Amino acid sequence: MCPGKKGFKLFKMYQDKKKAKKRLAREKAAVKAMIVFYCKVHHAKGIVPCNDCENLINYAFLKLDKCSYIDNKPPCSKCRTHCYSNDKRNKIKAVMRYSGPRMLYAHPVLAIRYFLTKMRYRCF
Ligand SMILES: [Zn+2]
Repeated sequence: MCPGKKGFKLFKMYQDKKKAKKRLAREKAAVKAMIVFYCKVHHAKGIVPCNDCENLINYAFLKLDKCSYIDNKPPCSKCRTHCYSNDKRNKIKAVMRYSGPRMLYAHPVLAIRYFLTKMRYRCF
């Protein structure tokens, strides 16, 4: 059985969708890990993540879900569309600045993947 050109195209679309989904899940995990890491150091008084950071995580997830570039998404720091509100953007920037470099020790696999994505888009 030969799937033919059309069949192959559909199959590829399906594969791309699956890849995008996986990527989305990975990106969510990375964002969450970074925020939790930041919270632990900066505001943890028992519960991690604190209320503020929990909100930020949910906000980031929501934005990722709605991201219109999801099929070929650059890292959010390089995204042309600024979908974060001002105060949330400042918060996430602080988180990235702090957690980004330190992620290499805390979550090496996530960090390496993150850097690979960055390299793919030549964001350095
Ligand atoms: Zn916090």
